[in-house]
Amino acid sequence: MSTQVTNTADVIVIGGGTGGYSTALRAAALGLDVVLVERDKVGGTCLHRGCIPSKAMLHAAELVDGIAEARERWGVKATLDSVDWAALVATRDDIVARNHKGVEAHLAHAGVRVVRGSARLTGARTVHVEGVRADSALGTQSMYAPGAHASATRPLTDPAPGVQPQSAPGVHDFGTRRGIVLATGSRPRTLPGLQPDGRRAVTSDDALFAPGLPASVLVLGGGAIGVEYASFHRSMGAEVTLIEAADRIVPLEDADVSRHLTRGLKKRGIDVQAGARLLDAEVLENGVRARVRTGRGETRAVEAERLLVAVGRAPVTEGLDLAAAGLTTDERGFVVPADWNRLETAVPGIHVVGDLLPPPSLGLAHASFAEGMLVAETLAGLPSAAVDYAAVPRVTYSSPQTASVGLSETEARARGRAVEVNTMPLTAVAKGMVHGQGGMVKVVAEAGGPVLGVHLVGPNVSEMIAESQLVVGWDAEPADVARHVHAHPTLSEAVGEVFLTLAGRGLHQQ
Ligand code: FAD
Repeated sequence: MSTQVTNTADVIVIGGGTGGYSTALRAAALGLDVVLVERDKVGGTCLHRGCIPSKAMLHAAELVDGIAEARERWGVKATLDSVDWAALVATRDDIVARNHKGVEAHLAHAGVRVVRGSARLTGARTVHVEGVRADSALGTQSMYAPGAHASATRPLTDPAPGVQPQSAPGVHDFGTRRGIVLATGSRPRTLPGLQPDGRRAVTSDDALFAPGLPASVLVLGGGAIGVEYASFHRSMGAEVTLIEAADRIVPLEDADVSRHLTRGLKKRGIDVQAGARLLDAEVLENGVRARVRTGRGETRAVEAERLLVAVGRAPVTEGLDLAAAGLTTDERGFVVPADWNRLETAVPGIHVVGDLLPPPSLGLAHASFAEGMLVAETLAGLPSAAVDYAAVPRVTYSSPQTASVGLSETEARARGRAVEVNTMPLTAVAKGMVHGQGGMVKVVAEAGGPVLGVHLVGPNVSEMIAESQLVVGWDAEPADVARHVHAHPTLSEAVGEVFLTLAGRGLHQQ
């Protein structure tokens, strides 16, 4: 193996998921010469195994639910014949494929040099790449290092709005700011002693490639991924049991969000078991047989065609040889930045983005976009604000959906804030009655001060959280928002009404 550096670039990004490709696109837009190394497909987890395929499937689930609602509530004489899983998968995969082509085209257009290969660090400033051939075998070997590439000192072409380059416009020497960006993401985690076989006991990755829809599913894990898959399978007619070890599902959300979501899922016939633990699971020819210790301390036998393991994600650093660069992970495997403002590790010039980061990063694609942009701008020598994680929205795309931003009531109180809270059921506004799916709005504000958190449950709330992320991000007070009129009739009227009430001007709420 040659250890000689044969290639240089201003920025070498390892991993082409949302974190890596956003870093590459932004860095290239700022005039930096970028190499992006990806061993599989650009787009990563989100595009190929996460956000996009799952939301495509959840859209189909909404259509199925709509047929039942049409019949049961609206007198529409519709019945569901059957779901053609192969056709559903074909549409889903077509959406993924078109997005994949789009990401490839963006990268090519931006001038990012995409290298198909598996990268590992060989020092603080060198990256070894083992090329992956079209037949997926490993082949060519090459070395990359951040440094002066022939076209490396191009003028900055796209300073961020309101952001001034640190030196005069024109030709820039990026000097020591050139670097390596770790963006190798995450994979599904499992529990000790539980090895998914990919057929009966599956991860969220395997579930995409299943040969058909199961008649019954035991979902292990009540975080966003587990809840979304439980919701999807229920819509598709499966008997679903959802078990979560914490005392409530979506345990990182406000307690009222968990309560309303649990109620909504139970109403749809999902057996939600919080505070429950999987004792053991046996994979049979036609399914799984599990023993579950319920929150009440009873032991229950659950049989299902499929066990879906959704107990979280683990960072991917195997094969990266962090030690060669003088880096380590924390005990959970995350790469912890020494400087969160620049997402730079303890080794100067090595940055980290996306699912490799521990909390307060969020393991969300849109957080990784923001991180990638921050790192690219930092590497280009531009001042760029640190990611404000508290103002990043979090969504669960189940039925009902949850969407939130900022602090929960418990978190706000734990920080010693004098808190004012107002909640309103979505069914208190006409559009909420039209939807007939329950849900709520909850706003947590500092008494006499800014809005600290907004929490929504209900239909389409993923599309309603955008105004609240601005409210929280801009430290607006309820009275600032209450001056602005919400359209009638909409679900977002309920959000407006809660702000009005907190500002002392409630119209429909006393
Ligand atoms: P990844 O997307 O995992 O990309 C890492 C890339 O690095 C991979 O392509 C991998 O092949 C490559 N790689 C790894 N090691 C090497 C190496 N040594 N050399 C070269 N290449 C390497 N987030 C949301 O915001 N919204 C959602 O709705 C949402 N839904 C989700 C649903 C599911 C089922 C799942 C699993 C996740 C979901 N997420 C969602 C989370 C989101 O997918 C991740 O936060 C995001 O993909 C993280 O991006 P990343 O770039 O850090 O890592």
